[in-house]
Amino acid sequence: MIAGARVASATTRTNINPSNADDVIGEFSEADAAQVDLAVRAAKQALPQWSRSTPQQRFDVLDFIGSEILARKQELGTLLAREEGKVLPEAIGEVARAGYVFKFFAGEALRIGGQAIASVRPGMEVITSREAVGVVGLVTPWNFPIAIPAWKTAPALACGNTVVLKPSELTPGCASALADIISRSGLPAGAFNLILGGGVAGKALVEHPDVDAISFTGSVTTGKSIAQHCALHLKKFQLEMGGKNPLVILDDADLPLAVECAVNGAFYSTGQRCTASSRTIVTEKIYAEFTAALLARTAQLRVGDALEASTQIGPVVDLRQLEKNLSYIDIGREEGGKLLIGGQRQAGKGYFFTPAVIENHDAQARLNQEEIFGPVTTLIKVKDFEQAMQVANATPYGLSGGICTNSLKYATQFRREMQAGMVMVNAPTAGVDYHVPFGGSKASSFGPREQGGMAMEFYTRVKTHYLA
Ligand code: NAD
Repeated sequence: MIAGARVASATTRTNINPSNADDVIGEFSEADAAQVDLAVRAAKQALPQWSRSTPQQRFDVLDFIGSEILARKQELGTLLAREEGKVLPEAIGEVARAGYVFKFFAGEALRIGGQAIASVRPGMEVITSREAVGVVGLVTPWNFPIAIPAWKTAPALACGNTVVLKPSELTPGCASALADIISRSGLPAGAFNLILGGGVAGKALVEHPDVDAISFTGSVTTGKSIAQHCALHLKKFQLEMGGKNPLVILDDADLPLAVECAVNGAFYSTGQRCTASSRTIVTEKIYAEFTAALLARTAQLRVGDALEASTQIGPVVDLRQLEKNLSYIDIGREEGGKLLIGGQRQAGKGYFFTPAVIENHDAQARLNQEEIFGPVTTLIKVKDFEQAMQVANATPYGLSGGICTNSLKYATQFRREMQAGMVMVNAPTAGVDYHVPFGGSKASSFGPREQGGMAMEFYTRVKTHYLA
């Protein structure tokens, strides 16, 4: 969608339902470099008008988009479940989240402000204001195909920027539905543009000289290549990347709660969450009891078609991801891990993979270091809290981390010492509010935080004014 019009391209990509490879969702265009250029030009042309829009105009546009998304959450949730493979209740939840995100940033558009600072010089007044950055390129992954485009597009528009969104090539349908709603919101044509395609389109967008800022969510490898380009060309950029998030379970934890936190964190959304707890670290005193309870609970999980009411764990997103999960099970075995449950392809027309628990107490093992991005968690036995803390921090990542304990002392120490952007006490590592800052540390994130009021930091530039 360039300057408000749908544009076809020479190449297309067939998008299929991961629960049923025979179900074709549609044929979607793959933008070439010339179309990316047209989209960026459209955004540049729309910039003077939209960056001068009033807070009220921005509020009205974003509030309309939020209301439309919420009104259509059942239909959009069904599309999301069919395209990405999240089970229907989770898919509807994600759509609702996207709607509320637009509503939150509608309000934020009214709150953009600056500071008045007393000058050291007599008769001088100093104030700061915030202005739009310009044309922003948004590059997003497939695992939250409506929520992530929403949580970048909404603050970008709220701050008066114009947008070119490049969603994942695996989920063009969701992005396309979002673009339809945006196109009916009263936003000037060209203030929001959508280009479809994979890395080629993404790279063309990132490297376009008229793009002023890039907000990216995806893998570390792609993030690093974007960082290199942006640093060299002094473009503002922000990266949200992978995780290898730990869930620590101490002797004094409420056992049923700890098991629920572990199962939810590791397996819900088929483990395809950047905040998934892919390492479960348990103290030795309760290790045997916890492991037995975790395996019993995991064995009950029903894997299947994302649209079926009885399904709890949908398919992985595509064949590549299925093969990646299977290959990590092999790696796990080869490096001495013990597969305790799951880790198999489940028969059917979709990419079904049974939730896996692998025991490997070596914190440096590949399975305890590398992001798999599927329903796989390792189990690591540790002596005590101190060792748990050490293991929890022993990866290059730092997105989220959780602890299950009834000890205030250890919960507090964990919150202080966990090298992560988000810490959870007696709750799964995944599952976050839509209106609070989101982001990580270490190799998981770079740049200002997303979501909540802090998102405005990335999408604005500060100007200091001196008035004599
Ligand atoms: P990916 O890096 O393969 O792709 C992400 C996006 O970048 C896609 O739109 C893709 O087409 C595009 N892209 C690929 N190569 C590019 C290039 N050279 N230049 C510009 N764009 C390019 O990631 P993915 O497989 O879609 O997503 C999974 C990853 O996303 C996981 O690592 C996961 O942890 C991470 N993730 C992080 C967060 C977070 O907020 N921290 C949230 C969700 C997912």
